Amino acid sequence: MSDRFEAVLITRDEDKNQSVDFVQMTEDDLMDGDVTVAVEASTVNYKDGLAITGAAPVVRRFPMIPGVDFAGTVIRSSHPDWYAGDKVILNGWGVGETHYGAYAGRARVSGDWLVPLPQDMSSREAMAIGTAGYTAMLCVMALQRHGISPDRGPVIVTGASGGVGSVAVSLLAKLGYEVVAVTGRMSEEDYLKGLGAREIIPREELSGAGRPLGKERWAGGIDAVGSHTLANVLSMTCYGGAVAACGLAQGMDLPATVAPFILRGISLLGIDSVMAPKSLRLEAWRRVSKDLDRDKLSSLSADISFRDVIAAGKDIVAGRVRGRLVIQM
Ligand code: NDP
Repeated sequence: MSDRFEAVLITRDEDKNQSVDFVQMTEDDLMDGDVTVAVEASTVNYKDGLAITGAAPVVRRFPMIPGVDFAGTVIRSSHPDWYAGDKVILNGWGVGETHYGAYAGRARVSGDWLVPLPQDMSSREAMAIGTAGYTAMLCVMALQRHGISPDRGPVIVTGASGGVGSVAVSLLAKLGYEVVAVTGRMSEEDYLKGLGAREIIPREELSGAGRPLGKERWAGGIDAVGSHTLANVLSMTCYGGAVAACGLAQGMDLPATVAPFILRGISLLGIDSVMAPKSLRLEAWRRVSKDLDRDKLSSLSADISFRDVIAAGKDIVAGRVRGRLVIQM
């Protein structure tokens, strides 16, 4: 019999009441896959919080081990790309939603889902970046593909003290952009300026119903919040600009008009990290390892123990987490 390891398991009773607990498992309990990984580090993303609390239907198969991302070492593989000892990262692909996820000592997954850990990066650093940071990089890449260069003007980041936001602010600042950070926590002004934000806007300025078009204020945006905030960001984007939308912390709705698109030629760039093709993932991890200041990464991430993961899931949904949380297994 395989060695036992600890895992977080979400279960549901006949009345669909969800519970979450720590359990002992063996490799025999894992789902099918051609690569088995010793999980070394994971993290708590907003989606993990939704899964743990059941606040949104993230988990689509019960029981489920949550955790949408991990970094670790391959123990055994029958996949042609991977060998025992390889250091790997996994983000998304339904892991922690339909396939057993990261909050366990071991994971068994498809080798097609894995990317190599960048050479100069530790498992801890990879998970300090995590899915939130890799998504922030996808957003920056989308803006750059659209021609939003630093000379075009400021770039606004919403949900700035959160995981996606903190990494986005740091990346943009390092790349020479003037960053405008939107936060509901004005107490985090020093933190955000330390990451490189030039201007801080209080959340209330953008979170209510706005006008179809406002004064042109920024060349681009990275939005982790959705709803009225995204509508207002679009309405104040300069002619020809673009906004990368990746999140829904305020809401899934988009109460906007077409005015920014048809009168100012604004583009709304949709960002999905879960099913992103491998070539884009490899590029994002290569870029994030080069473009993210490691001192900033330390200042925006904190370690928690595996036993704290359930409480941390509740905290992130309640908007109480700053930056990124790393779990070292
Ligand atoms: P965090 O909770 O770390 O960050 C979200 C931030 O949004 C909060 O820290 C807060 O920032 C702000 N916020 C929270 N509630 C509200 C509200 N009601 N109104 C306005 N702002 C609010 O989450 P992540 O950074 O991990 O994820 C951010 C979003 O991106 C989530 O919706 C997540 O699901 C999504 N996401 C999407 C991905 C994709 O592939 N498209 C991948 C990864 C994440 P502050 O306190 O500074 O205002």
